[in-house]
Amino acid sequence: MSVHQVVNPATEAVVAEVPLADVEQTDAAIEAAEAAGPAWRAVAPADRGRLLRRFSEQVDAHSEELAQLEVANSGHTIGNARWEAGNVRDVLAYYSAAPERLFGRQIPVADGLDVTFKEPLGTVGIIVPWNFPMPIAGWGFAPALAAGNTVVLKPAELTPLTAIRLGELALEAGIPEGVFTVIPGKGSVVGERFVTHPSVRKVCFTGSTAVGQRIMRGAADQVKRITLELGGKSANIVFDDSDLETAAATAPYGVFDNAGQDCCARSRILVQRSVFDRFMELLEPAVKGVVVSDPGAEGTEMGPLISAGQRETVRSYVEEATEDVDVAFRGEAPTGDGYWYPATVVLPRATTDRVWQEEVFGPVVAVMPFDDEADAVAKANDTAYGLSGSIWTRDVGRALRVARGVEAGNLSVNSHSSVRYSTPFGGFKQSGIGRELGPDALDAFTDVKNVFISSRSISTLN
Ligand code: NAD
Repeated sequence: MSVHQVVNPATEAVVAEVPLADVEQTDAAIEAAEAAGPAWRAVAPADRGRLLRRFSEQVDAHSEELAQLEVANSGHTIGNARWEAGNVRDVLAYYSAAPERLFGRQIPVADGLDVTFKEPLGTVGIIVPWNFPMPIAGWGFAPALAAGNTVVLKPAELTPLTAIRLGELALEAGIPEGVFTVIPGKGSVVGERFVTHPSVRKVCFTGSTAVGQRIMRGAADQVKRITLELGGKSANIVFDDSDLETAAATAPYGVFDNAGQDCCARSRILVQRSVFDRFMELLEPAVKGVVVSDPGAEGTEMGPLISAGQRETVRSYVEEATEDVDVAFRGEAPTGDGYWYPATVVLPRATTDRVWQEEVFGPVVAVMPFDDEADAVAKANDTAYGLSGSIWTRDVGRALRVARGVEAGNLSVNSHSSVRYSTPFGGFKQSGIGRELGPDALDAFTDVKNVFISSRSISTLN
């Protein structure tokens, strides 16, 4: 059996060794999940809700432990990691109300009663990336379990520790064995098996667009349901009538949160030409003010990148760029051990530049001017992605027009919020298919069944 050494990205110290499942172990876990299915879906809705509430309480009771584990495994700041553990608790609490509210419809028809049921799919495979190990796991397993499915979950190789702990907490909360199983392993082994094993009826994948495309192709063989949450290259659009001070002061946090390893990162800032110079003057101290330090220290705002490989990828967009990339300014970062990279602001020369087109997934933001509303929307949409974005303006009509014009699933006006557990989240275009969170997620984990019950008396049926 192969083993993965889990490394603390802030210190490069090995913090744990995690065995990686092979195909036989994956099959055994999938088959156990399938076997647990009938009993789980037969649990009365109120009792299933109660179990999910207990799971939520269990996460709450261990939230500091989970947060510290995430700091050590992923280099997330302690503030972020506490939010992430709290998010799992909240998502479980939110969906604990779902089993009793999984309403179908009664549809008027002649000669009887027509009703729809939202049936669970069966066993659901959830594949999680390394950038937000806890929340992305929870966005999958909480609604999937609430809807009566059993779950097998594969964390990313680099960041398995909190998922493993969440699997233990589920058992401690009374979720029956086999209903929620965490299987650490490689994407090419465990993840692929979720796609090819016929008992896995749906794959819920968050990760890169390239792997998402591969999963979509593979799922076609069994017409397997999929949800894909993929990459992003989101725009932060700043109009000349906006509160420029606030727009500039918040822009770094809209892109450098989690060291830019955020699918919703506003990694392209579009600024109206008439206020471009003033915006850059205001942005410089804001970027230099981001506190980049030991992620475990209270008050740290940005930690390291996840791995040496990721840092090399990020460097390739700036230091080793094939086109000329002008660095406008950058912040500070620790030196020595750890995968540190400073917050960096670049000025691309053209919209075809790699740094403007591709997802960097690191603390690099590109800034470009635009002329008017139409130009802003056209530049924002000039990408294969469509996940999120921000619009800064005091003109409500303009905010609405631009929000409707930008092709993205999650937009915020005069803020950088993307994710609330009670509202739907997901991408347009190559950022994905399907929606997580909010009321919409339950549709992603159920199939609609229509049943007609005749009201004609049996004696008149023939
Ligand atoms: P990745 O695609 O390399 O890996 C994601 C997961 O897929 C991992 O668990 C990995 O082991 C698994 N995997 C890899 N190859 C596989 C295969 N052939 N079959 C099945 N599973 C396989 O992505 P990453 O590098 O871990 O994460 C970064 C990417 O994720 C970025 O592109 C980012 O934008 C995206 N992301 C998107 C969202 C969103 O909600 N849209 C959220 C977070 C991250």
